[in-house]
Amino acid sequence: MLKSAWQPWAPTIEEKIPNENRGEFIFRNIALPSSSYEIYFYTKFKWEPTAVVPPENAACLKVDLVSPAERLAFLDKPQQGHDAQFRQLIEKACILDTMGKSQERDEVVSASASHLRYLRDVQTLVGTLKWIRTKKDLYQPVKSFFHQYSFHQYLVGEMLNRYPKGDPNLVEYLHMITPSIYSESAKMLLEKVEDPLVISTCVKALLTREDDGLLPVIVAMISKGQISAESAAELLTKKPEQGLWAMKAIAGLDQSPSSDDLLTAILPSVVDEYTQSVPEWLEDLLLRALTVEKSRDLILRYLKILVGLDRDEVWQVLIDMEKFEEISHKDFIEFLKLDPKKAYVVLWQNNGLNRYSEDILRLEQDFPFAAGLLTPGMTLSTPFGEVQIVNIMLIDGTIRQSVKKAEGNFILQVSSGTGLEKIEADLDFSQRMLQFKNENQIFCCSVCNSFYHPKQRKIDEHHRKIHPYEQKAFVIRHGSIPFSPDDIDPIESVY
Ligand SMILES: [Zn+2]
Repeated sequence: MLKSAWQPWAPTIEEKIPNENRGEFIFRNIALPSSSYEIYFYTKFKWEPTAVVPPENAACLKVDLVSPAERLAFLDKPQQGHDAQFRQLIEKACILDTMGKSQERDEVVSASASHLRYLRDVQTLVGTLKWIRTKKDLYQPVKSFFHQYSFHQYLVGEMLNRYPKGDPNLVEYLHMITPSIYSESAKMLLEKVEDPLVISTCVKALLTREDDGLLPVIVAMISKGQISAESAAELLTKKPEQGLWAMKAIAGLDQSPSSDDLLTAILPSVVDEYTQSVPEWLEDLLLRALTVEKSRDLILRYLKILVGLDRDEVWQVLIDMEKFEEISHKDFIEFLKLDPKKAYVVLWQNNGLNRYSEDILRLEQDFPFAAGLLTPGMTLSTPFGEVQIVNIMLIDGTIRQSVKKAEGNFILQVSSGTGLEKIEADLDFSQRMLQFKNENQIFCCSVCNSFYHPKQRKIDEHHRKIHPYEQKAFVIRHGSIPFSPDDIDPIESVY
C-alpha cells in the first residue's frame, strides 16, 4: 500500500504484488506529486476487500521523492481557491510535523483555519480532521476549533448539497460529528440525513441542550417516514428526565397523527417515573393518549391513573370506550368500582334507553353507600355517635332492604353498644323526629347544641373530648327529639 505522508486527504493505493514477482514492482497508471510516501508491505487473503488504511504491524518503508525543505519551498508558490490554499497549508504543517517543528506546525494549522468555512472538498476536510485527531500534541484550542467549526451549518449545508447521500467521504465526514455539534447543524442534519448514527448523535446534542426546535423536527421526521415513532421515543427516553422534558415539549405542539404517535410511544416510560404526583400537563397528555392508544394494558393503566386523579373528563372517555367496545364490559365494571360514587352519577346521566340499568343495580348492591342508599348493617354518624341500621321500615309498615335517604318516607331502627351501654332508637325521616327506646331522659350538650345522648356517661365523655376548656353544660329533654337528615350520614369506611 502506498500512502502519502504529507497529504492526509490523498487516497491510499493498495496493489497486489503477484506471487511470481521478483526484483522490482511498478505502480502503473498513477501520477504522484513529488512528496513523501509510506509504503506498507503485508499479506492478506484474496477475498478480503480493498483496504484504505494500512493494517497495524505492517512493515513500513519511507520514501522521500523530495526533501522536506524542497517541498516547503515549492509550497510557497501562491495558490488559487480556498481548497488549494488550505491543502497547501496543511501539507506544510505535515512536513513541519515530520521535521519535529511542532510550534511552527501549530501556527500553520491555525492559519489554515481561515479557509475552513469555504472548503468544498469533503475529502480534504475528512483527511485533515483525521490527521489532526492523531496529533496528540497539537495546540488544544486549535484542535477544538477544527472539530467544532468543521461542522458549522455553512459547511454541513455545502457538503450535503455537493455530494450524493452515499458518498463514502461524505458518510465519513458525517460520522465524525459528536454531541457537541452546533444546534443549527444538528437540526439541518436531522432534516436531511437518514443515517441512524447521525440522527442519534444530533438528537442527543439537542436533547442535552433542551433545544425547543428538537421536537418539531422529530415530529416532521415521523410524518415524512424518516424515523419511526418508536425509534424516536427510544432516543428521547434514554434518561428519564429527558423523556419527561420531551413529553412536556410535545404538550406544547399542535396535535397531529405524528405527534400522537410519538406521544403514545414515549408516555409509558414517563408515566413510570410519576408514581407519586402527576403534573397537570401530563394529565392532559394522558387524556389525549387514551383517544389514540391501541394497547389495552396501557389504556387500562392510564384510565386508572386518571380516575385516581379525579379528572372528571375521564368518565366520558370511559363511557365512550364502553359504547364503542374499545374496552370490555368486565374492565368497564372494574373501573366503575374505583370510584363507585362518581360512577353511579355518571351511569345515571348516560342511562338513555336503560343502557346502564343493570350496571346501576349491580353498583347499588355492591356499593349502597356510593349510590346514596341506606341499608341494614350500615354504620351512620349521628348527633348521638355512631350507630348501625338494624331495620328499615316504610311509613306504611313494609320492611325494605334499602331506601334512598332523600326520599324520606321511612323509619330507621338503629342501635349501638351492648349490655348496659346499648341504646336503640327510631329515626322517623318523614317526621324528622327521633325516639330513644327505654330511655326517659336525654342529655343535650348546651355548649355546641349538636350532641345528645341518653347515657350521662356519654355526655361527660363528649365534654372532655370536644370542649375540654369549656364549662360543662347540658339540658335534659324527654320524649321525641327533632333531628335534621343532614346530620345523619353513612360512614364510608365500613365499605
Ligand atoms: Zn357539645
